[in-house]
Amino acid sequence: MAEAYKLDCEAAEADCRFIVQSENEEEAFDLARKHMSEVHGKDYTDDELRADHLQTV
Ligand SMILES: [Zn+2]
Repeated sequence: MAEAYKLDCEAAEADCRFIVQSENEEEAFDLARKHMSEVHGKDYTDDELRADHLQTV
């Protein structure tokens, strides 16, 4: 079974319950980046997301 990419926004932004989980890395990054930008007004690069926020599960 393929591993999945998961972003638990609560770990980055207190009080946010948003969770992204996808087996498709591109999709996980797109959704995570879009959420961070639209909801939190923060622009993260893929490297920042990978380093700080995305987990593989
Ligand atoms: Zn959030």
